[in-house]
Amino acid sequence: MPELPEVETIRVALEPHLVGRTFERVEINDPRLVRPFEPLAVAAELEGERVAALDRRGKYLIVRFESGRVLLIHLRMTGSLRHAATGELGDDPYRRAVVRLDDGSDVAYRDVRRFGTWHLLEPHEVDGYLGLRVGDEPLERRFTAKRLGERLAGRRAPLKAALLDQRTVAGLGNIYVDEALWRAQLHPLREAGTLGADELQRLTRAIREALRAGIRRQGASLRDYAQPDGRRGRAQERFRVYGREGEPCPRCGTPIEKIRSAGRGTWYCPSCQRLSR
Ligand SMILES: [Zn+2]
Repeated sequence: MPELPEVETIRVALEPHLVGRTFERVEINDPRLVRPFEPLAVAAELEGERVAALDRRGKYLIVRFESGRVLLIHLRMTGSLRHAATGELGDDPYRRAVVRLDDGSDVAYRDVRRFGTWHLLEPHEVDGYLGLRVGDEPLERRFTAKRLGERLAGRRAPLKAALLDQRTVAGLGNIYVDEALWRAQLHPLREAGTLGADELQRLTRAIREALRAGIRRQGASLRDYAQPDGRRGRAQERFRVYGREGEPCPRCGTPIEKIRSAGRGTWYCPSCQRLSR
């Protein structure tokens, strides 16, 4: 599922096509996308809105309109966005919405599993909505070992679960948590509240490095994710542990092991990432 690097890649690619453009016509073909609101009503509200900025918070894509309203897009499991010149969108049974921009191009939303959401928020609702759901941005300067330590303090949950919680750090999912823990040489089942200062330092750096590696390769295309021009990301070619059960650890050569944690497949190196030392 798309995590911070995938959403950031989409944001960077769409930004020049969206900013300054007006939503001329909006079609929403799946009521689940906007419920509890009516697709026709939401589409009518969006028509005529002009885009001021395209931002991101965690895994949310934030379309900021000049009116102050915001369209929050969450891709969940299998959502993706495609930008195409007029008439270039082919048939797609999984297309759930299309926005026609005032330059004649289209932004299409595709979602096989249909868990993605589009929320249109009024200006006064935005900060509260995101504040409840999303913690520190890991690529911003404010994210430090001290901040991360405060978020993990007293938590008995395993690191894997604590880092999947979007209020701990924004934007991490199953892939980049495993990759970050390998880089930090920390076991996924380690109790989150027990990290020392040097371990927090390593983990903070590792989260940043794992995310930046993903962004550099335009995200990971394992199943449905693609960039807005249709190309696949290449981050999966460089995973250190994720999905690599039985293959050698790139650091020490020990076969990577797979366990389950927080209900998710979890990959790690049993030599580099020890539970106790
Ligand atoms: Zn290793």
